[in-house]
Amino acid sequence: MKVNTGIKQAFLLFIITTSFSFAQTGAKFRVVLDPGHGGKDFGSIYNGFVEKNIALNVALKVGRILDADPSVEVIYTRKTDVFVNMEDRALTANRASADVFVSLHCNSETKKTAFGTETYFVGNTKNVASIDMAKRENAVLMLEKDYKTDYADYDLQNPGVISGAFALQESVQAKSIELAGKIQEGFLEIKRKSRGVKQGPFWLLNKVAMPGVLIEMGFLSSNDEGLYVNSDAGQDELAQSIAKSILAYKKESASTTAADNTVAIKENVKPKPEPKVVQENAAPVKAEQIKQEVKAADKTEKATAATFKVQIAASSKDLDLKPGNFKGLTDVTKDNSQAIIKYFYGATDDYNKARQLLADAKAKGYESAFIVAYRDGKKITLQEALNK
Ligand SMILES: [Zn+2]
Repeated sequence: MKVNTGIKQAFLLFIITTSFSFAQTGAKFRVVLDPGHGGKDFGSIYNGFVEKNIALNVALKVGRILDADPSVEVIYTRKTDVFVNMEDRALTANRASADVFVSLHCNSETKKTAFGTETYFVGNTKNVASIDMAKRENAVLMLEKDYKTDYADYDLQNPGVISGAFALQESVQAKSIELAGKIQEGFLEIKRKSRGVKQGPFWLLNKVAMPGVLIEMGFLSSNDEGLYVNSDAGQDELAQSIAKSILAYKKESASTTAADNTVAIKENVKPKPEPKVVQENAAPVKAEQIKQEVKAADKTEKATAATFKVQIAASSKDLDLKPGNFKGLTDVTKDNSQAIIKYFYGATDDYNKARQLLADAKAKGYESAFIVAYRDGKKITLQEALNK
């Protein structure tokens, strides 16, 4: 896998500085708005509706709403009709150490019957429609002259899988799902059809080192929906809804504010790039439903249930597991099989309980804690655990 060293450095910087920094420092909550396509890359075009223009219009409207909140800082990957390559979009987000990355797009399909909204987080999938969608959004890579070397990790023959994927996303995937759920909930409130929260192999979402989602705001191939997303009123409504959902997510992630004085090291694990079946959901999806489904999915295969733990710290120091060493937390375990010793809080096969444990750990001051998963004593990705 060849990745531009600039990107690697940006990731490294991110790993060292730590992830969810705004809650700890009182710094602004940084939102990267990424209007899809631009310049020579038009995205989808149907009935005179042009994806790149709609994406930019809505992004600027979302940005204007968020700018009114002094605790939010908005960063754009583009503010005009210019071509921006995928790598630069990721770099913009990673250099800003953004709190969330939101990519805006419009959908299309040849039958011209589909309509509704979808919000994606990054994941490998066998779902044909999701792969096709990701393929279309990834296709811009081929407009870049060095795509064969710069994007060697994206296999055009096997587009459902990004090799070596999701290492960086692992600890933020749950947050991406949370944000995606809020965005889809918001669309329901403005009476848009929700096609659900989905996962797909998006090159760009895999390269941003923070919770990230890609929103398909509607189908340009549907004449009615195309008219709506292309209209000023429709774009205003979409922007209001998306901004509101981002702020709701921000509010939730800021609810724990205690400082974290331990170093949480994000591991660059190599998950098996094994494709997984997406949990498709044609019906409207609410965040609660998603959690229930995740829970139900966990329960279905009892033989090899995953165990979730909350990684609270990693250190070269081998600490005694007494509560006094861990801000009063009991039920702390450690993995000292490697030079860097990892410390975990709790253990459960219930993802919802793990989320509660995570909230508890954060409330105690472990702000950069995150959930990890194990199966049969082996570390697996959160995605693998949740797909079970
Ligand atoms: Zn697009």
